[in-house]
Amino acid sequence: MTKTAPTSDVPQVLLAHHLRKLKLPTFQREYDKVAREAAKEGLDHPRYLLRLAELELIDRERRMVERRIRAARFPAVKSIDTFDFMALPTLNKPMVLELARCEFVVARENVIALGNSGTGKTHIALALGLAACQRGFSVAFITAASLASQLMEARDERRLLRLQQALAAVQLLIVDELGYVPLSQTGAELLFDVFSQRYERGATIVTSNLPFEDWTSVFGSERLTGALLDRLTHHVHILEMNGESYRLKASSARKRRRIDAAPEPAATVDPDTGEILNG
Ligand code: ADP
Ligand code: MG
Repeated sequence: MTKTAPTSDVPQVLLAHHLRKLKLPTFQREYDKVAREAAKEGLDHPRYLLRLAELELIDRERRMVERRIRAARFPAVKSIDTFDFMALPTLNKPMVLELARCEFVVARENVIALGNSGTGKTHIALALGLAACQRGFSVAFITAASLASQLMEARDERRLLRLQQALAAVQLLIVDELGYVPLSQTGAELLFDVFSQRYERGATIVTSNLPFEDWTSVFGSERLTGALLDRLTHHVHILEMNGESYRLKASSARKRRRIDAAPEPAATVDPDTGEILNG
């Protein structure tokens, strides 16, 4: 009579279970394949395990970056590599490249990008956010208007403290489009509290279409704006991003290309002789 072994006796099953508990998915996925490679190459046991451990580390790092990017809620993924610095001569390129190394995040400093619409402020903010995720920092991206309304909603639902704590805990907070929409007094005060709570505790990037002199129109109160600017600009890197709108430039370049590329009128062929009549 044949006796079937209980599943727990099959080492692969137990191993899969243990590796799952130990959170080593790459070990589980790769150990068989790597074992065959190791046998072929004549690798000893430590080298076999080393190769597996290296694969696990690489995968873990990649998974962490992906998780951070998801958690940041970027509206789009943009990188410094795809930014055309020639299109915006006012922007200090060395400063941007230096910021992309993320030392400002470690130093808990701020970045403020100022300029008219369409000059790439959001693009640069997203690119710096992505760089921070890749370097292992926690990041959150949000527009000023949405942040103000989330704060007000949280306050109404008596979970303001929790939201404030979550916002204070991210290493890099990106507040986009400050100034596009004027804030209510409560919204302005709650936003002020966020910046205040982050002061010297976390790095913040703010983008705005308004020069500092006009921030009072967003926050309503001169006193609040003064106090905010005081904190925000204490340790700050300012990116001057005034220039021609990239969107407009790109669309007029497309139109120009369409005109340049307009096809020649098609040649007409005489059906009898096969002779080309024009073109
Ligand atoms: P802003 O936030 O200043 O209004 P955006 O960052 O939203 O401008 O830019 C508008 C669009 O143009 C985006 O798709 C962005 O990726 C692109 N863009 C802007 N400036 C550049 C640039 N210098 N190089 C490449 N793409 C750019
Ligand atoms: Mg923008």
